[in-house]
Amino acid sequence: MRFMDIKEELNTESGMRVIDSLLNVGLLPSLLIDKDSHEILYQNKKAVELLGNVSGKLCHHVICAKEEPCDNCVLKTMTGNVAIHDGYLEPLGKNVRWMFSEISWFDGRNAVFAKLVELDKNNVTTEAKQKYFQDMDQDRRDTDSLTHIPNRQKFYRNAEAILQSDAEGSYAVVIFDIDRFKSINDLHGMTRGDDVLVYIARVLKDSFGFEENFGRMHSDLFAYIIRYEKKGEIIRQIEKLRKKISQNAFDFDINTSFGIYLVEDKQVPVNLMCDRAMMAVKTIKGDVLKFCAFFDEQYRADMLKASEIERDMQESLARGDFKMYLQPKYRLSDNKMVGAEALCRWIHPRKGIIPPMDFIPLFEKNGFILKLDEYMWEEACKTIKDWINRGIEPIPVSVNISRYHIKHNDLEGVLTRLINKYGISSSMLTLELTESLFLDNPEELNRIMIGLQKLGFKLEVDDFGAGFSSLNLIRNITVDTIKIDKDFLDNEIATEKGKIVVNHTIDMAKDLRLQVIAEGVETKEHVDFLKSSRCDVAQGYYFAKPMPLDEFNKLL
Ligand code: C2E
Ligand code: CA
Ligand code: CA
Repeated sequence: MRFMDIKEELNTESGMRVIDSLLNVGLLPSLLIDKDSHEILYQNKKAVELLGNVSGKLCHHVICAKEEPCDNCVLKTMTGNVAIHDGYLEPLGKNVRWMFSEISWFDGRNAVFAKLVELDKNNVTTEAKQKYFQDMDQDRRDTDSLTHIPNRQKFYRNAEAILQSDAEGSYAVVIFDIDRFKSINDLHGMTRGDDVLVYIARVLKDSFGFEENFGRMHSDLFAYIIRYEKKGEIIRQIEKLRKKISQNAFDFDINTSFGIYLVEDKQVPVNLMCDRAMMAVKTIKGDVLKFCAFFDEQYRADMLKASEIERDMQESLARGDFKMYLQPKYRLSDNKMVGAEALCRWIHPRKGIIPPMDFIPLFEKNGFILKLDEYMWEEACKTIKDWINRGIEPIPVSVNISRYHIKHNDLEGVLTRLINKYGISSSMLTLELTESLFLDNPEELNRIMIGLQKLGFKLEVDDFGAGFSSLNLIRNITVDTIKIDKDFLDNEIATEKGKIVVNHTIDMAKDLRLQVIAEGVETKEHVDFLKSSRCDVAQGYYFAKPMPLDEFNKLL
């Protein structure tokens, strides 16, 4: 909540209740003091218990029992954000320590938040005083030792108190972290990393002040809870915080990612709310265009599913639950089977057959695709070897190469080892590389492809026509085959103009001496059209679906 919001809020009854609860979630006696006039602007309940009603009084009268402020009054001399002031407190008859932190009050006045943090423990007599000591110990346990803002446990309690005190208000729990904080530590040292965290805590204090509606969860993770009327307010608040955080004196950038959980049920434990806000943060990591995201249930369901899959994948691979299915490719001129594509199926012991679309994208994210693909390639090599051993004339098998391999794998090494292990020719293995891959880093990809072609592997551009790069692509790269995407075929041949586009695309590829395959061929209409064009090979349900190896072997 911004200060202006609080001021507006103060005019309403429920607003007053919120302010009251915000101030009183702290266990320690606390005062809000005008830095210039020394007037006590506000006090929490603990401070009322201890000092009586002192709002409106001058702080040196109350805290120091002096008529005038001293020359070296801490309010005048404090530099930086925090100061300690030791003194004597009349009502307790004890030496005490105050912690002052500077904030800006909503009407522009500079204010100081004074918290009673320590008492002389030697002369504890009454129960009440004992209680203060306990409260102080608790406060120390509740405060993050590096940044001096509430730690995670304290934040949970504060947030809970805020939610419980205001049944009608709408609230959002917001979590944020620093992008690549680890790199900041690595490159500039842990001390600088700590400075960044302290700086962020200060931005939070400046923004929310004494409300203590925020905290440091752990490492570079911070959280806060705010009341809102419209969702836009939450975003505007985030934009302001990000701006403040980015306007720093460090000689490197500090970028932050925010996740927002809109509280629907105030009984849900705050730690769960934070987990959900955290899930939202994860959805935007790696996306430079996004700095905040809302949590949604669908995402949670997807995450759950993903984590189940991640739990099972290693075991399944070891147990052989991933099976290679083969889908035949037919030459259109004489309907002869001239190849097959290896497609993965996960035969899950409990869930049955899981299609690749449910796990390949996840494996591409978590890196497991490296293992799965190598397994699939090995299955393909094994199969070709088996055909040769049984005297069957082998047909080339094409395997899918995920984009992940280009950056993270020694493709040439892995593939060479495999064909050597099974003693088969590299020309028997066709490598399908999806069209979109060619957008990423064409030079690097071209270098890798030339290397693979020199080794004798056949290369195929998968999903050709799915993107916008197709025409440039076909001019610039060295491949053997293009595989026309199913959707491209479907969409284009529905109209006369579209047919002309596909026809010319095929013509152009043929003129460049490329083989042309069409995938997703489902109907007689597809086949007739492809036969009338110069397309060489077709693959699709019209001819055969992907099938298990033993079924496929019957076709040979
Ligand atoms: P893809 O490489 O484009 O494979 C073609 C997909 O179209 C396959 O889906 C195939 O079953 C399906 N298909 C074939 N003919 C027809 C047809 O006539 N009509 C329709 N509607 N679909 C047809 P599948 O097997 O579900 O695979 C989906 C995608 O998953 C593949 O698309 C490929 O990108 C990926 N994938 C599958 N197996 C592997 C693998 O082992 N490794 C990697 N990296 N990716 C794989
Ligand atoms: Ca493919
Ligand atoms: Ca494809």
